[in-house]
Amino acid sequence: MVTLEEAASGGCLLTPDAARGETLQMAKHAKQEPSGKGGATKAGGFSALERNILKSKGLSDSGLEKLVAAGVGSRDDFRTVGDAATLADLAGLSADVAGKVMAWAIGTGGGGSVTNAGGGTFVVESGDIVNCLHCKTKQPKDYKSGDLCISCGKQAEPSFACAWCSANGPGKFCRNCGAEFVPTGELELAICLKREGVAKDEIAPKLRAMSASEKEALWGRVRRSR
Ligand SMILES: [Zn+2]
Ligand SMILES: [Zn+2]
Repeated sequence: MVTLEEAASGGCLLTPDAARGETLQMAKHAKQEPSGKGGATKAGGFSALERNILKSKGLSDSGLEKLVAAGVGSRDDFRTVGDAATLADLAGLSADVAGKVMAWAIGTGGGGSVTNAGGGTFVVESGDIVNCLHCKTKQPKDYKSGDLCISCGKQAEPSFACAWCSANGPGKFCRNCGAEFVPTGELELAICLKREGVAKDEIAPKLRAMSASEKEALWGRVRRSR
């Protein structure tokens, strides 16, 4: 009876455990497998390159999963989605990330996009055309980030404070340390993320991927640390 019980409980324990161990291993294996070289890709029909591009647009792993769960599995599917607002709703992305993803996926090279730069918004037209922050004059083609406006002589682009090294400068990245600037209104959030150990390259993408409620929680931590 003891042996029977032992055998029974052993058998009971063994089967689900073994099965779980197996699926766990399989899941691990699937995750580790670099899906670039042929074979079935995870994350829907996106290739490794496409996934990397999507991540470079600020999409997090969970964002990518939501996208796939919503049925978006290839670049063509974005055409069905149609516009950034729909994509944002579908996959729970921020408008900023959704806009960048759609711009890439649909290839609206000529379309303008609006970037929220903290307090004010300034319109970035297709390519690298910059309009002066002060007088709205379109800057010449050879304009480089940090140049003075050809019309009013003020710095044409807004200047940002770097959350990582606290240097100041125009453009998208800090010239001192290379960190990506975050919108001025989110500087304190970025500094808080830095303090919490987020890597330099991950702060701006992380902020972009955050939902409003996640940012609210982060603001709470900022206030508590004051
Ligand atoms: Zn100007
Ligand atoms: Zn810096």
